[in-house]
Order: sequence, then C-alpha cells, then structure tokens
Amino acid sequence: MANPKIIVAIDGYSSCGKSTLAKQLAGKLGYNYIDSGAMYRAITLYFLRNHIDFSQEEIVRANLQNIHLSFEYVEAHHKSEIHLNDENVERYIRDLIVAEKVSEVATIKEVRQFAVAQQKKMGNRRGIVMDGRDIGTVVFPDAELKIFMTADLEIRVKRRFEELEQTGMPATIDEVKHNLAMRDYIDSNREESPLRKAEDAKTLDNSNMSRDEQLEKVLNWVAESIELKKLAQVH
Ligand code: C5P
Repeated sequence: MANPKIIVAIDGYSSCGKSTLAKQLAGKLGYNYIDSGAMYRAITLYFLRNHIDFSQEEIVRANLQNIHLSFEYVEAHHKSEIHLNDENVERYIRDLIVAEKVSEVATIKEVRQFAVAQQKKMGNRRGIVMDGRDIGTVVFPDAELKIFMTADLEIRVKRRFEELEQTGMPATIDEVKHNLAMRDYIDSNREESPLRKAEDAKTLDNSNMSRDEQLEKVLNWVAESIELKKLAQVH
C-alpha cells in the first residue's frame, strides 16, 4: 500500500526557522510547501502601496476584493513564490517596512478570514507542509502532524539579522530585535486566532540544534504519523 499523504502544520514564534524546516520537509517528502505568512505580508504590501487606511473595517473589506494571491513555482529558486495580482512580490514582502506592519494587519478579522479560506483549500488533497501561527489550531485542526517551534529570542534575532544582511536589506540588530519581540507579542495576544500551541502539537525548541538534527527528528515524527494514518485506514 502506498504511503498516505498527510498534512504537516508548523506554528511558532517569528524567525524560529519554520520556513527552513518546512522547505526541507516538503523537499524530502515531495509535498507542497506553503508559507502562510507570505500571504499576510503580501496583503500588507498591497495596503501600504495603496495607502489604505486598514483601521477601517469597510475599507479593508472593499480592498480585499481587489487582492488576488497565488503561489507560483519558480524554477530558478526551486520553490513556490507569492504573487500579488500576478506580480511576484517575494522580495518586497521581506522588507522591514512590511514586517513593521504585518502583525497589525494580521489581527484584522476580515484579513484572516480571507487568508484562511484560501489556505484551507490548498490542503484539500493533503501532501502539504504549511507554516504560520494558526495552522494547527485554525487552518488544519485535523493535521496529522502538528509542530510548535520555539527558540531563544537572542538566537532568533541573530538568525534573522544574518538573513536580512545576506539579502542586502538594511536593518540594525536592535531594529530586528524590536520587530521580533513586537510581532510575537501582537501575534500571541490578538483576539482572532492568536498564536498558541495546539494541544496535540509536538514542541520543537531548536535553540541548540543543528538543521540536520532537527530534520532527522521531524522526519521520525512524520514517519510515525504516516504509520498511524495507515493503521487508521486499515481498521
Ligand atoms: O511567518 P512570517 O514571519 O512571515 O509571518 C509574518 C506575520 O504574519 C506574522 O508575524 C504574523 O503576524 C502573521 N501571520 C499570522 N498567521 C499566520 C502566518 C503569519 O498571523 N498563519
């Protein structure tokens, strides 16, 4: 019997390495990787570019109708990248200007409903790894494997700073630290689907783990989840 496909839901704090792990996993398993944060970032980019007053519910609702998001596979980068109204905006959404506003935008109920409805559809055929803040709790509460990632703030700041440096985006250590702490706070304390560990999620603290150690551990979890699913299908 062929292995059944599962959904892997990865949630956690900002810059814990969720997307790195999710990409590695998707590659190993031949699954689709979906970066749900990219959707909130692209919506934020649209609001900023068009000077939208997103504190007004009616204005947000009207503007969401003009936003079309899609993930298109980019051969050269070996990954799916987010498109906002058919423009590849992957490099603009990582900018600190977007990072400064995205958590505020992600608190808006209409924005979340808009993004979550599309995310749920992407999981229809399973075989997907999705990372974000509410994937195991709201988007895929029935995911076969849920992982909640965390790491010490100082380590996360260092990782994000180096990442921004590599992509040539200017930011100081203090700016990065402030941004991560602020986003974690807003994400954990918002009313609509706050960041929290699903009861049945496995915790992964990677403060002192190499990427390889982490991947090995998670691949074991994946294998267990697939075995459980097989058993459930037989009985
Ligand atoms: O994952 P990333 O850091 O790119 O996400 C950017 C922001 O989008 C997060 O800080 C959070 O405010 C929001 N987000 C969310 N729910 C998700 C994914 C991201 O609220 N599922």
